[in-house]
Amino acid sequence: MKFFDLGLDEPGLKAELEAAARRVIDSGWMILGPELEAFETEFAAFCGVDHAIGVGNGLDALILTLRAAGIGAGDEVIVPSHTFAATWLAVEAVGARPVPVEPDPATFTLDPAGVEAAVTPKTRAVIPVSLYGHPVDMDPILATAQRHGLFVLEDAAQSHGALYRGRPTGSLAHATAFSFYPTKNLGALGDAGAVTTSDPEIAAKLRMLRNYGSREKYRHEAAGVNSRLDEIQAAFLRARLARLPAANEARRARCAQYGQALAGANGLTTPVEAEWARHVYHLYVVRSPERDALQARLDTQGIGTLIHYPIACHLQPAFAHLGFRRGDFPLAEALADEVLSLPLWPQMSPDDVAAVAAAVRA
Ligand SMILES: *Cc1c(COP(=O)(O)O)cnc(C)c1O
Repeated sequence: MKFFDLGLDEPGLKAELEAAARRVIDSGWMILGPELEAFETEFAAFCGVDHAIGVGNGLDALILTLRAAGIGAGDEVIVPSHTFAATWLAVEAVGARPVPVEPDPATFTLDPAGVEAAVTPKTRAVIPVSLYGHPVDMDPILATAQRHGLFVLEDAAQSHGALYRGRPTGSLAHATAFSFYPTKNLGALGDAGAVTTSDPEIAAKLRMLRNYGSREKYRHEAAGVNSRLDEIQAAFLRARLARLPAANEARRARCAQYGQALAGANGLTTPVEAEWARHVYHLYVVRSPERDALQARLDTQGIGTLIHYPIACHLQPAFAHLGFRRGDFPLAEALADEVLSLPLWPQMSPDDVAAVAAAVRA
């Protein structure tokens, strides 16, 4: 069984995507046009904020927002020790220093007490990540940020549609970075990303930075970049956004089934949903001290699994210059050794979930 399917065979979807592509082709407008404007309006409404700014990908969404917030050389930015490397790469890209904080052991998301303890006079920002689709416990992090004057940038690349105390990701922090990489809960048919915010200044700076640092054609006020969300991807995303709530519901149903079928399985830890959270299960991640043996056994049965992520960020060659060593972040290291993502996509059948769960239990 495969690990993931893009779900493009869902009834009616291909016709909608083809119609979206035809609309763009017939319009002759490919960049910064009406489809992007419409998607930005629709996605801002979905997240409950004033502004969405489309950019080229999720990493650029993080980098450009840090730049828009004025974060750079000499600054410290608090990041999760357990996350996808892009969160740390964004901090490096603006010349700031990533300061890792260990996760809450139950939800695998940033521990608010750890954030408070990691603040120094150089700290300027914190990037909580709603990892695997579970929202971060944001209120205590915002309280710490307010006490110390920090900018909070949520990385919601894995949590489109998740709720925290009834509020959607995208509206929780000063700004939120999203990726629409094809496998994300809301995926384009190529690279794309966006930032959501209700801060008009951050929004205006992002629009300038993504377009060569220019608000006015051929006048450049900052060393911006070219990182825009194409019209054709925006048109595809509008079709998929309309289907996102149902897709997230389907993920939740499949994961509830996994949870029941795997309850009490020997040595296995299954995902939790905090009482204040609505998890959207970008991934269904179990934890096992026998992870490698389990993965190998499932592989011999033709069941695809992946590891998110096998090397903790502080041990990645790209971050060797930060001087961290094995043992510095034991929880992140244990998770790198023990997590396993089981097959999951919204159209996966209950029979397939049952078959995977039986194979895991065996
Ligand atoms: C996917 C992802 C990113 C990067 O998004 P891209 O669009 O691939 O650049 C950043 N952070 C997290 C947590 C992600 O999962």
